[in-house]
Amino acid sequence: MEKEVINFIKNIYKSKKYICLHEPVFNGNEKKYLEECIDSTYVSSVGPFVDKFEKSLNDITNTNRTTAVVNGTAALQVGLRLVGVKKDDEVITQALTFVATANAIAYNNAQPIFLDVDFDTMGLSAKAVGDFLDEFGELREDGCYNKKSGRRIAACMPMHTFGFPVHLDELIKVCNFWKIPIVEDAAESLGSEYKGLPTGSFGEVGAFSFNGNKIVTAGAGGAIVTKNKLLGDRAKFLTTTAKEPNKYEFIHNEIGYNFRMPNINAALGCAQLEQLPSFLEDKRNLAKDYEIFFQEKGIKFRTETEDTKANYWLMCIELENKIDYNNFLKHTNNSSVMTRPVWELMSKLPMYIDCQRDSQKNAKILKNRIINIPSGVR
Ligand SMILES: *Cc1c(COP(=O)(O)O)cnc(C)c1O
Repeated sequence: MEKEVINFIKNIYKSKKYICLHEPVFNGNEKKYLEECIDSTYVSSVGPFVDKFEKSLNDITNTNRTTAVVNGTAALQVGLRLVGVKKDDEVITQALTFVATANAIAYNNAQPIFLDVDFDTMGLSAKAVGDFLDEFGELREDGCYNKKSGRRIAACMPMHTFGFPVHLDELIKVCNFWKIPIVEDAAESLGSEYKGLPTGSFGEVGAFSFNGNKIVTAGAGGAIVTKNKLLGDRAKFLTTTAKEPNKYEFIHNEIGYNFRMPNINAALGCAQLEQLPSFLEDKRNLAKDYEIFFQEKGIKFRTETEDTKANYWLMCIELENKIDYNNFLKHTNNSSVMTRPVWELMSKLPMYIDCQRDSQKNAKILKNRIINIPSGVR
């Protein structure tokens, strides 16, 4: 079985070399914009490419005040602060995610609460959040409190795993009832849609990543998106050292961050964003090829769920047998085809071992079944 998969993947990538999970592709204006950027001398923290990058993202994500930042983790960290997360608050998130989601909570000196994911989307389960809050939630004048810890639950951060959108309507309903703002970790889901609208635009704030392995890269980078102009302005203010507007004086009244995306990264990012539609199309075609192939082999290949459009950032198969699972990883990686097990659950990591969690039934099953396979644009 592994052999056939390896041959199939080598064939679709027409490659004899090592095949990565997600290599960047630079077939557009990357070199042109980088040269332009260098010639202008504006390679650092301000410049026209940053403005252009932010404007393009407004359009792509159906928001109106994007702030480009150094990476996706910084976007998440500031996103949480924007909705009011403070020291000793709590933030609900999913157990099955990349560590940056949980770290962004910790950087705000807040505590994560790790809840289960839905089996179909692999992202935060509205039912799990609802069940948790029915048991532990208490509405007070200034928000929702956790009856067990006595702390305020200041935000909820769903993550659209591998580009598959979570059930947003259901989650928004639960969070609205409990007066908990949503910060979407959309780092993996640029170009994904839920009921025809882009992920990242549903929460109070959304965060994207432009790391080298994401669907679009700026070398490194992130973005905070929102439809709330005041929050958007504050995102820009906080990530540019919180400097009060003044012609020549340095006036700072609160602790900001130097999280600006450099213009040279934005130049690369602009050229990449122009290609997003073609990347999305190419990945959909690849997903289709995989779907047909794995169906014939009797292996489950994950496809988008009802009412959603996935960007197919990282594609994955689901193996129900533990021996198959480890063998598959071993054989593919030994044969120059990179495959990867899904992340360890956040609730098992030593730094988060004491955090409150639910049963995480689905997350535990998925943890032993899901494998990512090469998904880059061909
Ligand atoms: C990539 C990623 C991030 C962080 O992005 P960086 O740009 O690498 O900091 C955050 N959350 C998730 C789920 C990611 O996949």
